[in-house]
Amino acid sequence: MEQTYFRRGFGLKSAIEGALATDYHSRVVDAVRAHGYVLTVGDVTFKLAREFGFCYGVDRAVEYAYETRTKFPGRRLFLVGEIIHNPHVNAKLRDMGVECLHRPEGGEFDFGSVTPNDVVILPAFGVTAQDLNRLQTIGCVLVDTTCGSVLNVWKRVESYARDGFTALIHGKYYHEETKATASQVSKYSGGKYLVVRDMAEARLVCGYIESGGDAADVVRQFADKLSPGFDPERDLARLGVANQTTMLSNESLAIAAEVRSSMAKRYGEGALSEHFRNFDTICSATQDRQDAVNKLIAEPLHVMVVIGGYNSSNTTHLAAMCQERVPTYHIEDAACIDPVAGSISFRPVGAHEETRKKAWLPEGPITVGVTAGASTPNNKVGETLERIAATRGVSLGAVLG
Ligand code: SF4
Repeated sequence: MEQTYFRRGFGLKSAIEGALATDYHSRVVDAVRAHGYVLTVGDVTFKLAREFGFCYGVDRAVEYAYETRTKFPGRRLFLVGEIIHNPHVNAKLRDMGVECLHRPEGGEFDFGSVTPNDVVILPAFGVTAQDLNRLQTIGCVLVDTTCGSVLNVWKRVESYARDGFTALIHGKYYHEETKATASQVSKYSGGKYLVVRDMAEARLVCGYIESGGDAADVVRQFADKLSPGFDPERDLARLGVANQTTMLSNESLAIAAEVRSSMAKRYGEGALSEHFRNFDTICSATQDRQDAVNKLIAEPLHVMVVIGGYNSSNTTHLAAMCQERVPTYHIEDAACIDPVAGSISFRPVGAHEETRKKAWLPEGPITVGVTAGASTPNNKVGETLERIAATRGVSLGAVLG
């Protein structure tokens, strides 16, 4: 019988190395790293964060997708959603004949066109338990690139459900990773989850824990963010906290502390272990990138440029951190910088639409900080530096020899 589930690579790295280098490598980034992450050309000094760009989970997922194309050359290849949240990488996969399956807003993925002869790639942030079941029922080949750090969160959430704790997930309820994580509670009868976006939402939950209130109102306020049949009186009595791997780590820690404190107020410190559990599930790659950007913005900078998909959770958090200290431009791609027009198209922190600004670089000698989310390839970072330099009428050519 043909093996239909793969999650450990196909051992084809040497066959795909060339394509990966062509599609994602950057000589500019290598050169800046070799210069100690600082580079001056003309009156522009670039400072790169010490950690940026592809994380270990994304590296693995992208490699695995390329290996899959090589392993199954004649088969139709599908991808559930996006492999990662980067338009350039997803476009490259489409060019290789990988067809993305989309989920309509508020709906389910349509697997109607997938047959047992097809190969389906599961993305780095995983798929819901229900979608995995549906695909297994079809009998197609599944190539699972779910990141190990996401699997760790799932294990934690499963253990909460197994032990009768509701999983309180700090995350974005509409994000694929959080949907997949929340769905893991369904593996245990009576398993429950609730997703909180930020401290304000966590406080709503904490208020109910401490003093009760209108249960129907809680259910209404978290309408799309909790499991079916959620009963606040019953399901907020025992909570296990977990987080989407790419949230702001400080906020996640503060939310866990807040829930702990509310449980202690309601049930007493002595009974805390029966009502509260916590495990920090921010992944180390996210933490490293947030730590590196904190160090970078502590230095004097005129502007900060953050590169990554507008729907990339870790990128938007990096941009939000930077915005607190430095004028920050979150761009989705290097092409957002137009050296001829001297403009930049970016999404302001907290906004939903892209906007365009001319004369965005201050006059005189400037220092530009640059970082990129975990799903941004190096060539997009290098191209961004080239376009910023070109905006000031200088070239990185000399640096590259
Ligand atoms: S951001 Fe973290 S959890 Fe997500 S793919 Fe990268 S390493 Fe894995």
